[in-house]
Amino acid sequence: MAVNVHHDLPPEELTFHWKSGRLCLDFVATVGERWRRSFERLRTPEDLARWVAGTGTLAAPPRVSRRQLAAGRELREAINRLARPGVDPEAGDRDELNRRAARPAFAPQLTSEGNLAWTAAHPVEAMFAAIARDAVDLLTGPLAGRIRECAAPDCALLFVDASRPGRRRWCSTEACGNRTRTKAYRQRRKEPAR
Ligand SMILES: [Zn+2]
Repeated sequence: MAVNVHHDLPPEELTFHWKSGRLCLDFVATVGERWRRSFERLRTPEDLARWVAGTGTLAAPPRVSRRQLAAGRELREAINRLARPGVDPEAGDRDELNRRAARPAFAPQLTSEGNLAWTAAHPVEAMFAAIARDAVDLLTGPLAGRIRECAAPDCALLFVDASRPGRRRWCSTEACGNRTRTKAYRQRRKEPAR
C-alpha cells in the first residue's frame, strides 16, 4: 500500500513510537495507520533528523538530505515487507536490506566524563546501517517467529513478543490492550442478556 504524505496532520499523529522493542520496527512505525490511512511521519528531512535524535544514539540531530530521506523510506518499506507476518517481500527487498547492513555503522567512543558515545563519519548512513543490521539480527535470530502485529484493530504496529509463553497480543498492554478490552466489555454490556 502506498504511503501518503499529508501536510495537515495534528501533531499527536506525528509522534514517533518507541515501543516495539526493536530499532528496526520502531523505524517501520514511522508510517501511521498502515491498515487504513497509511500516513507518512517522515515528511521532511528534518522529521528524519528528529527520529534519529530520538534513538538517543547521537548528542545532536544530524543533517539529513532529501536523497537520504528517500533512501530511508525505501529501507523502511523493505523492512516492513520482510518483517510483517503475512506480507510477501518484493524482489529487491532482501538486497536493499543487505546492502544497507554492509555499510559502516556507529563506532563506540569513550568521552572525557568516562561515558559511552557513538560516532560515525556519515551519521545518517550509519543509522541506516544500524537499522538494517538490527533487522537482519531479528529476522535470523530466535525471535524471528515472535514478530507480531498488534491485535488492536486501530493500531497494527509491529512488535516483538519476548514473553516466555509467547502469547502477547498488543504492542502495549497499557495503551492498546486496555483500550481493546474496555471496548469489548462495553460491547458485551450493550448486548441483551440471554
Ligand atoms: Zn497497539
